[in-house]
Amino acid sequence: MNDIALERSLTASYIALEAEYGAKNYKPLDVVLTRGEGVHVWDVEGRRYLDCLSAYSAVNQGHCHPKILAAMTQQAQRLTLTSRAFRNDQLAPFYEELCALTNSHKVLPMNSGAEAVETALKVARKWGYEVKGVPDGQAEIIVAADNFHGRTIAIVGFSTDPTSNGGFGPYPAGFKVVPYGDAAALEAAIGPNTVAFLVEPIQGEAGVIIPPAGYLQRARELCTKHDVILILDEIQTGLGRTGKLLAEEHEGIEADLTLIGKALSGGFYPVSAVLSNSEVMSVLHPGEHGSTFGGNPLACAVARAALKVLVEEGMVENAARIGARLQASLHAIAAPSVKEVRGRGLMIAVELHADAGGARRVCEALQARGLLAKETHEHTIRIAPPLILTADQADWIAEQFAAVL
Ligand SMILES: *Cc1c(COP(=O)(O)O)cnc(C)c1O
Repeated sequence: MNDIALERSLTASYIALEAEYGAKNYKPLDVVLTRGEGVHVWDVEGRRYLDCLSAYSAVNQGHCHPKILAAMTQQAQRLTLTSRAFRNDQLAPFYEELCALTNSHKVLPMNSGAEAVETALKVARKWGYEVKGVPDGQAEIIVAADNFHGRTIAIVGFSTDPTSNGGFGPYPAGFKVVPYGDAAALEAAIGPNTVAFLVEPIQGEAGVIIPPAGYLQRARELCTKHDVILILDEIQTGLGRTGKLLAEEHEGIEADLTLIGKALSGGFYPVSAVLSNSEVMSVLHPGEHGSTFGGNPLACAVARAALKVLVEEGMVENAARIGARLQASLHAIAAPSVKEVRGRGLMIAVELHADAGGARRVCEALQARGLLAKETHEHTIRIAPPLILTADQADWIAEQFAAVL
């Protein structure tokens, strides 16, 4: 749309209203969406787009999946919230199904991803004091540079991104940052008071950064050797996105604590969870942690359906197969502006050269062709469509990129 048309449109009126009343903590593309189905979304002008962001991988199952929708509406008519002061009949089956699927022993349900991260940090510290014997107040947690784990004070305190981190201090102490993908640096940073290493298997927000092969295996070995909890943040990489249910499977390892969120509800509702493989979770006792909405029956019913369709409809395998096809097609684009195409499964990035005019412009050109993608940082475009993408749709995405680049 040119500027004059945009000025008169319905889209423009929503954008103006948002600008008038809303905090400006986002810079979205100028598209106002009103409906979604499968891999597609429609804007208020009636135009259809293929969604290549999937709400940062929260909509892996596709928009408004009918079976998740049915579970949600049925549960919403029965019981939505009890608080954990009472029990509800959706929680236990949710635990059982999630543990069976992910090979975990314990679950702690929360709502947002950031809350799952905070929960893991609390659990790791408590484990450090009560089990490892770290002197009170001395627990140290190691994190990776260029991490993204959410937006709470503690989490942005150990972010190395100045936009996330600047101006929100003072921050909690007890975090140490090491370069991502560097196992030697991790080993050097581990001390007697280290209780945990928190890391993303692939750094999504940093621009789909894949660590060197063997890095996570080595991190697993170091954590085991030094009695340190390995916390994998799979909030974005998890639940099929990389072509495996959890990205840790690519390296054949198991974390002590695994964090999932986003696609745990198929995009219907904020649901997150901390999964525990060791007995780390047993350090928590009644009253020491909680959330009014965490583990509520509506969330549990939605998550159960979201996990069920992910498995039953073969979405994880589809992500591996169609992801490989899409990556191959993108690799074949011989545009001088492209620096690198990288990815795993349907978690893909196209990085442009610094002098190519920026990723935002490419995203706007893709939008005009009916494809929605969002830049991460200046020069990288992330491609993360719903995992139900077909081969034809994957080819179409690659064609749009070829045309625009
Ligand atoms: C999105 C994300 C989070 C934070 O989740 P919210 O639900 O936005 O709080 C944490 N870690 C990773 C890797 C993420 O992608």
